[in-house]
Amino acid sequence: MSGETKVVVIGFDAWGAYSFPKADMPLAKRMAKNGACAMNARCVRPAKSSCNWASMIMGAGPDIHGYIDWDTEVPAFETPVDHYGIFPTIFALIKDQRPEFKTAYFYEWDLMRLFCPDTVVHHKEMLPGLSYDSAMAEKIADYIKREKPDFTFIQFDEPDHRGHEKGHDTPPYYELLTQLDSFAAIIEKGVKDSGNYDDTVFILTADHGGIGKDHGGDTPMERNIPLIFFGKNIKAGHTIKSMVMIYDIPATIAYIFGVKMPQPWIGRPVTEIFRTSFKKMPAP
Ligand SMILES: [Zn+2]
Repeated sequence: MSGETKVVVIGFDAWGAYSFPKADMPLAKRMAKNGACAMNARCVRPAKSSCNWASMIMGAGPDIHGYIDWDTEVPAFETPVDHYGIFPTIFALIKDQRPEFKTAYFYEWDLMRLFCPDTVVHHKEMLPGLSYDSAMAEKIADYIKREKPDFTFIQFDEPDHRGHEKGHDTPPYYELLTQLDSFAAIIEKGVKDSGNYDDTVFILTADHGGIGKDHGGDTPMERNIPLIFFGKNIKAGHTIKSMVMIYDIPATIAYIFGVKMPQPWIGRPVTEIFRTSFKKMPAP
């Protein structure tokens, strides 16, 4: 019997779409093959961290939400603010419109704390070193198994540092991608152990890519991010044909959960990925 749909987002910082064919990432490749994916989804300008993680959570771009650079902590100009004190986030939409839902936010990069106020999620936890410590991925898996959250957002801060230190698209960069994929597999196992695997949509993606030892420019290596949807009601073997922006990710999550998007959002749900409309799906 089918229950409420769950969503798990796993984002890797600086995972460029260009790397996908060469990368040894069994989980990501299995989910791409058996799901719907775009290898030319586009991050916002500049192809940097803060502005793009914000866009992935806030359903709009820097011109609107005001997080304009890699390390923006306070919006650069006046923006709409919700009753949690920041530009409306996907977490706020869920909390306000589906208050019965349990939500969780795990992040490795300290600055990610800004994009999810403490009062808007049930569980918020910073996991420094998450990209290097399988025990932390186990911790996330245990949480999912135990608490069965409806929505889980997980931010890995690599392979960004590896790209800056050793270069993007280099053997050490690919080695780390393989490790991150294995950590995502630990989290997938947690979802299986929760008993909700068949009701879960997984979203694998990134904030931006990289080139040489940097990112922030407009080359395809920097701007194109992988976007993989896999799981409940997602088409298998589907290549996304729509033009997809990073802020369409929270719009798609809002669509899945049936929550209304606020006026300042410009993201559009990627509806071509679904086998049937969620509205037509039988009630649990
Ligand atoms: Zn980044």
